[in-house]
Amino acid sequence: MQARGMTGVDEIEAIMHAVEEHQELYRNALPMIASENVTSERVRILLASDLSHRYAEGEVGARFYQGCRYIDEVEGRAIRWAKELFRAEHVNVKPVSGVTANIAALFALTSPGDTMMALSVPDGGHISHSAYSVPGLRGLKLEEIPFDVREMNIDIDQMVRAMKEVRPKLILLGASLFLFPHPIHEIRLAADEIGATVVYDASHVLGLIAGAKFQDPLREGADVVTSSTHKTFPGPQGAMILCKGSLKNKIDRAVFPGTVSNHHLHHIAGLAVTLQEMLHFGAGYAAQIQANAKSLAQALYESGFKVLCEHKGFTESHQVVIDVRELGGGDAVAKRLEEAYIITNKNMLPFDTEPDSPSGIRLGVQELTRTGMGESEMIEIASLMRRLLIEGESVASIKEDVKSLKSEFQNVHYSFDDGAAYQNPFHG
Ligand SMILES: *Cc1c(COP(=O)(O)O)cnc(C)c1O
Repeated sequence: MQARGMTGVDEIEAIMHAVEEHQELYRNALPMIASENVTSERVRILLASDLSHRYAEGEVGARFYQGCRYIDEVEGRAIRWAKELFRAEHVNVKPVSGVTANIAALFALTSPGDTMMALSVPDGGHISHSAYSVPGLRGLKLEEIPFDVREMNIDIDQMVRAMKEVRPKLILLGASLFLFPHPIHEIRLAADEIGATVVYDASHVLGLIAGAKFQDPLREGADVVTSSTHKTFPGPQGAMILCKGSLKNKIDRAVFPGTVSNHHLHHIAGLAVTLQEMLHFGAGYAAQIQANAKSLAQALYESGFKVLCEHKGFTESHQVVIDVRELGGGDAVAKRLEEAYIITNKNMLPFDTEPDSPSGIRLGVQELTRTGMGESEMIEIASLMRRLLIEGESVASIKEDVKSLKSEFQNVHYSFDDGAAYQNPFHG
């Protein structure tokens, strides 16, 4: 059979070209999306390895496919190292994303018709915590966790009262807009009185937890921790579930065969390497993220931006949140920043009702930290943002300064790569 003309090559070229352009953009830009990060060179090589072609359904040493002996070595180590890093009794590394981890956890721990509590999306809950997503899929009744807008945290007194009234089967903590540690311990005590399970979604803050910063959900009383592995935790896209030993079988069955058939083996290899990076460099990395977030927040505040939570030091996480209603709103501000190569996202704030016109901008410093930036660069970025958004300097001149700042920060730090440039090793 004849191939359909000669155009296939051109079409593939279009893909190659778009990806090249994408890489060029990110080489020059300041990526400040709070849910992203970059992997080390070794991890990138593993992601393109033959593991990406294979199946390994089942558990380490008990697979449904032949040819898995080396995959067992890789996955066995990933599980061991994750247990060590997070001091977890049990770890499942198979969920392919944070949402699938939440699907598996709620599948394991609830039945249709049960009631659960989670934060609403404007208060910081992830979309997978909402009725549109996992709780709806599982047929759960959903009650909102009471939130204190000024403190940007769970209102613990109202929460304890609501728990006694609602008597939820499960409480889902954690958030996507996440500045301060959640009051897990107090919720644990109230949960014990009503027999509820406490799940903590660490997707945003797993890298901070890996460095023993922010909070320690398993020690503070969570039964289960779900998390993606590519936000502050600087691994390949994927997820894991940490839990008490008593929940091992329930969680493992809910993952396989419940919600994942084949997990992504190349990602498991990359995850294993990232776990070693965090075992060795995680403490310094997490401390620098917190220091950077605080100094970015302080500098933005001094530049005239409305940074949330000045009265409590702005942030304890990798995130800084600013209210930009006076500057034209989140949508306009995020677009203007992008023109100047500062990549951020508009974000709903707790008082917002319209998802399309949010009041806020959410900034994350984890990727800039991983590529070696410190407090002085944060102050420089705040100044660039002031010049662009408050003083009205031209996009073109800010963009030039962004590119020149970024040119000094092209390598992944907190890894064993030792200064290797973070470029696609299979291209240039
Ligand atoms: C990002 C996020 C998720 C979803 O993770 P994916 O890997 O994108 O599926 C789940 N929960 C929270 C709190 C998140 O922020």
